[in-house]
Amino acid sequence: MKREDARTGKQAHNAVRLFLVALAMAGGSLVWVMVSAGPNGGVAGQTPSLFLVTSGVLVLVSLLYAVVVFGKLWWWYRCPQCGGRAPRVRDKSLRLRYHCGTCRVEWDTGWDDVPEGD
Ligand SMILES: [Zn+2]
Repeated sequence: MKREDARTGKQAHNAVRLFLVALAMAGGSLVWVMVSAGPNGGVAGQTPSLFLVTSGVLVLVSLLYAVVVFGKLWWWYRCPQCGGRAPRVRDKSLRLRYHCGTCRVEWDTGWDDVPEGD
C-alpha cells in the first residue's frame, strides 16, 4: 500500500520557510542598525540592535530546527503510523520513500533526494 506522508514533508517545507523568514529579518535588522548608526559610524539605536540580536537568535534556532527536520526526513525516518523505523525504498527514482514492514505501508514524503554530483 502506498500512502503520502504529508506531515514530515510539510514540516520540512515549513522549516525552510522559517529559516528564510529569519534570514530576511536578520538582513533587515542589519540594514536598520546601519541606517540608525548613520554614515559616520555613530552608535546604533537600542531598538534596531535588539532586533538584530533577536533575529540572529531566530536564524540559529530555525537552522537547528531545519537540521532536525531534514535529519528525520533523510536519516532517522520513522513511520508516521506506528513510529517504528522505516528503511528507505531504494530504486532508480530520487523520491524519498520509506517502507514500514509493520504497517506494510510505503510512505511517500513528497521530497526528492539530492542527485549525486558527477
Ligand atoms: Zn508503521
